[in-house]
Amino acid sequence: MTNLAVSDRTATASGPRLDIDLDAVARNTRLLADRAAGELMAVVKADGFGHGAVDVARTALAHGATRLGVTSLDEAWTLRDAGLGVPLLSWLNPVDADFALAAERDVDVAVPSAQHLSAVAVAPGRSRVHLHLDAGMARDGADPAAWGTLCRAARRAEQRGEVEVVGVMGHLGCADDPDDECNTLGRTRFAWALETARAAGLRPRDRHLAATAATLTDPRSHHTMSRVGAGLVGIDPSRSTRLHPAMTLTAPVVQVRRVRGGTPVGYGHSHRTAVATHLGLVPLGYADGLPRLASGRAEVLVRGVRRPVVGRISMDQLVVDLGERGVDPGETVTVFGPGTHGEPTVAEWATWADTIEHELVTGIGARVERRTLAVPHLRSLS
Ligand SMILES: *Cc1c(COP(=O)(O)O)cnc(C)c1O
Repeated sequence: MTNLAVSDRTATASGPRLDIDLDAVARNTRLLADRAAGELMAVVKADGFGHGAVDVARTALAHGATRLGVTSLDEAWTLRDAGLGVPLLSWLNPVDADFALAAERDVDVAVPSAQHLSAVAVAPGRSRVHLHLDAGMARDGADPAAWGTLCRAARRAEQRGEVEVVGVMGHLGCADDPDDECNTLGRTRFAWALETARAAGLRPRDRHLAATAATLTDPRSHHTMSRVGAGLVGIDPSRSTRLHPAMTLTAPVVQVRRVRGGTPVGYGHSHRTAVATHLGLVPLGYADGLPRLASGRAEVLVRGVRRPVVGRISMDQLVVDLGERGVDPGETVTVFGPGTHGEPTVAEWATWADTIEHELVTGIGARVERRTLAVPHLRSLS
């Protein structure tokens, strides 16, 4: 691996630690920028999918992304406060959000309804807006039935100098399965929405529908820009492409105990040791983002060997069956990582917990120490 300012993990381990590999983010960004037909917007909502919004943003911008995207305006302020001056879009705001400050701080806002349009239009300043279509999820974005009216109202607001309609956006509901019919419907709806906007006199130069999965699998959805989040941090919802996971979660074994066969472990005694063994206690639990649902299924890597997590994962701790020989207290357990040394991946944890990788990486708790590795924009990448 290509860690720069990193010392030996085992030697420096103290408590649980989350290492963020920005070099992985850099490589993922370059791959996605290569695949995208248009510009690449780095989506760094939810603190950059748990990897650090500002770090991921800076890295992505140094490696092919040209813009940033977030859900809330609060997330947008964080990026502006950090000195990031690139085009920035926020797409999920209540009608009483501070659209005046958005205009002042040069933050584009998505407009999903007539009420939002009015709120943006009356706010001081000339806001740059992206009209947001619901392309078939009944979630965020305008109902297609309201789209024509919204486009015409937006054109009037533009002619009054209140807004500038720079974009039209949509989002696909089933892009993780490229063969799903719903993608065809979404693309068709989006094409219709663009025509409708044009017929209303609008000339949106940013037309964007694809997120990570469609960027990797569906060139017909690319238009002028792709909005990618998961892919930056190594998650490919379409499972079509090898990306580089950017998180490694480690923790020390705090206690090792030798037990007899038949020893019940953890709350509810959901597990009993089959034979005499060593149990290692790891100070990570569901409060730290390891789902209780993974109890009895999950594994971790200890001394290069996969070991099962036994008994219930509790709030602060989990127990690992270390086998006949055990390990010393203080040795490091790798909970997940890129998988390059045999450790479980976030994707495996997601399977064990009946969820998706996104939920795990955005859910690592606050008491896990974070360390961000590498300064990728100072390196040239192969
Ligand atoms: C989260 C989000 C994205 C990014 O999606 P990924 O699959 O993580 O790339 C793009 N657009 C919208 C509207 C989103 O909410």
